[in-house]
Amino acid sequence: MKNIIFLAPPAAGKGTLSEMLQEKYGYGHISTGDLLREEVKKGSLLGKEAESLMKAGKFVPDELILKLIKNRIVKPDCNNGYILDGFPRTIVQAEKYDELLKELNKDLGVVIYIEIDKEMAMRRACSRITCPKCGRIYNKYSNEMKPKKEGICDDCGEKLIQRADDSEETFNKRFDEYIEKTMPLYDYYKKKGVLKTIKAYESKYDTFDEAIKVIEE
Ligand code: AMP
Repeated sequence: MKNIIFLAPPAAGKGTLSEMLQEKYGYGHISTGDLLREEVKKGSLLGKEAESLMKAGKFVPDELILKLIKNRIVKPDCNNGYILDGFPRTIVQAEKYDELLKELNKDLGVVIYIEIDKEMAMRRACSRITCPKCGRIYNKYSNEMKPKKEGICDDCGEKLIQRADDSEETFNKRFDEYIEKTMPLYDYYKKKGVLKTIKAYESKYDTFDEAIKVIEE
């Protein structure tokens, strides 16, 4: 099974696609954003360090992220393939990740770049609601993404929330971080010959179909 890395701006649909692919292929789903939010909720040292940066739309230091990844990637649900949703986000993370793969004798797999314009991503971020318990992602204004019962998670009955960093102002900062620090990964992975591009459609099912095509080709 091919491991998958998603490379895309905030709110491009990485989390939603990851959930769909996890269900189809039984892959492990590693969202560094979710791992960090768990640490914040627990009030751990790492969580305390990450919280203010996340609220400001800034990246969390590479060493902290790499520590999270190293612990997560060796869990049994990742043995048959996994999806990286939100990692790597900097060249340093990508280089350290290459070293880690060598150490663990694992394959890089495929890197999927999701093409989306800033306006569409912003619209999605500002109307996104998530389950604080299971992490499932919803959208208030999309027929196919809204919960069955308003404000309540279909899966665990928890009250849905808007993420602290999904405001218009923080979205702009996150987008700037993405352009400056993450976009260079496009060339990094293109040179390695592992990069595939898909488009973000209005319907998650159309985007999912494109993702399946590039994973299975
Ligand atoms: P996400 O849920 O992927 O949108 O991530 C939410 C926030 O967590 C980001 O805006 C960053 O502050 C932080 N974060 C998540 N993944 C990373 C990463 N790989 N490197 C640095 N910061 C990260």
